[in-house]
Amino acid sequence: MVSLSNHILDTFFPRQCVGCKRYDQFLCVHCRMNNLEPEHLPIDQSEKNSVHISSITTLGEYRNPVVQRLVKELKFHHAALVAQELGSLLADVLKQSLPAMIESGALLMPIPLHSRRKRERGFNQAALLAHAIEKALPEHTLVVNEDMLIRTKHTVSQTTLEDEQRQKNVSGVFAVSKKSLPSLSGATIILVDDVITTGATIQEAAGVLAALQPRIIHTVAIARGR
Ligand SMILES: [Zn+2]
Repeated sequence: MVSLSNHILDTFFPRQCVGCKRYDQFLCVHCRMNNLEPEHLPIDQSEKNSVHISSITTLGEYRNPVVQRLVKELKFHHAALVAQELGSLLADVLKQSLPAMIESGALLMPIPLHSRRKRERGFNQAALLAHAIEKALPEHTLVVNEDMLIRTKHTVSQTTLEDEQRQKNVSGVFAVSKKSLPSLSGATIILVDDVITTGATIQEAAGVLAALQPRIIHTVAIARGR
């Protein structure tokens, strides 16, 4: 019955566009065209700050107020429904920019919240996004894995910090679960987060996963910048 009532909620919940307030979707097609700037950015591995990460795929600039409202909705309001919409947009960008990866498969790993924050919020918005991306690809080649990457320390929100403090704040917060495979040799990983600002968080997570020797690590998020 739970899934049935969720389905009814999904179907009938009035979605209001965060851009123009029209009842349609959380971001109507018109506002999507005017506010999103999907970007797939390959990263030069030789750059000092980008060890382990091969590309960053995002939907728009965080400084755009409509994008900011979307991220807020994802974190605090209609999380699951917003995730559905954004996940399917992200899946479209991935299909266009990394078609070979979509064909060969990858693990979608949401950046974990510390258990305390997850309890407070009730869900991890990055995990909702990851599941939405998986669902949006009928090929089922991208599979969510929420068990391998874990967060061992509770930290203050990155958004309150200056650049130099951000790196320090996330240093040592992630670990690989003892239950996970000894090796991810040859695997492709896609790290999923809501906003990528300095990249300190995804960098830290990728560094921890690199010990399992994946072939390549991509990252996706709703927004980039600040
Ligand atoms: Zn609109």
